[in-house]
Amino acid sequence: MPLTTRSAVVSAKDAPFEIRDLELRDPRPHEVIVEVAAVGVCHTDIIMQEQFFPVPLPAVFGHEGAGIVRQIGGDVTKVAVGDHVVLGFASCGNCRNCLRGLPSYCLHYYEWNFKGSLLDGTTALTDDGADVAAHFFGQSSFSRYSLCSERNVVKVDPTVDLTILGPLGCGVQTGAGAVLNSLGVEAGSTIAVFGAGGVGLSAVMAAVVAGATTIVAVDVAPSRLDLALKLGATHVIDASKAEVAAELQRIVPEGFMYTVETTGRPDVLVTAVDTLMVTGVCGTIGASPMGTTAAINMNNLIFGRTIRGICEGDSVPEIFIPQLIELYKQGRFPFDKMISHYAFDDINTACEDAKALRAIKPVLVF
Ligand SMILES: [Zn+2]
Ligand SMILES: [Zn+2]
Repeated sequence: MPLTTRSAVVSAKDAPFEIRDLELRDPRPHEVIVEVAAVGVCHTDIIMQEQFFPVPLPAVFGHEGAGIVRQIGGDVTKVAVGDHVVLGFASCGNCRNCLRGLPSYCLHYYEWNFKGSLLDGTTALTDDGADVAAHFFGQSSFSRYSLCSERNVVKVDPTVDLTILGPLGCGVQTGAGAVLNSLGVEAGSTIAVFGAGGVGLSAVMAAVVAGATTIVAVDVAPSRLDLALKLGATHVIDASKAEVAAELQRIVPEGFMYTVETTGRPDVLVTAVDTLMVTGVCGTIGASPMGTTAAINMNNLIFGRTIRGICEGDSVPEIFIPQLIELYKQGRFPFDKMISHYAFDDINTACEDAKALRAIKPVLVF
């Protein structure tokens, strides 16, 4: 019996989300249906609404869901009905990179996350019988019920409030994983984080966990910089007022061992590379419009500097998300401080607040 699922639908480029009741089909043998308790709004959802790259419309986006398993297919063994889960990105499980434990670099990442359908071309969501593009990041969780492969659900501690956990599935694991997994920031390191949104602040908190001793957050919003200080940044720079490269050089004259670029802006990437120490590593995370290029000084790279692209923080979600939750429970990773809750039906307000930098990490609650 198909479920009726209240969903936020994008029907045309730049159109607002419309709340509609859609139908969700039953799970196949390796699929589960999750009743979404809350779902984060990530930059990627907003740029998809703007058709950052073409995805079939109408579509349901949403990729930071958390909820409770309500139905499982006949062959599912990973989770049971009633389990609390965080929904992660999708990956094939069989390609060279999935087999190497690098699912966020799955060689079929696009088809599994952005095609708007499953590989067989079908979609689980319909509107009065007409197909609606779904399976966004394997979840399309701007919907009361989300159909996922058992591969991209992560069972989590049921004692932790589900209305904060969704962002662990993308923005938080992206920023924290960049620092802890991809860059391997060591105790005593120097690190500068460009952009103090949900990803950048997660990187700041992870740098604290790693024991970095100089942690600089750069942003243009004073409210975000204030929060960065509360979360453990040792310095902040307001890029709307200061000359960032000069200010960074003042703080660490020899250059930073690590920089993290989360804004997707080419000029910021250039600064993030220019302010590296010899042998320093710049992690670049921010998505930019298709075809964007940056004017990197090639001679700077010769001296052992590295630019490292990072997707989803190199996370293996089943391992990394429970680790982040444990750190949260110990008070060492207070990512809930970035979250503002909104009613699900107020999704357009939440997106506007995120774009206007009034909210760092909106989470929609059912
Ligand atoms: Zn794969
Ligand atoms: Zn995301």
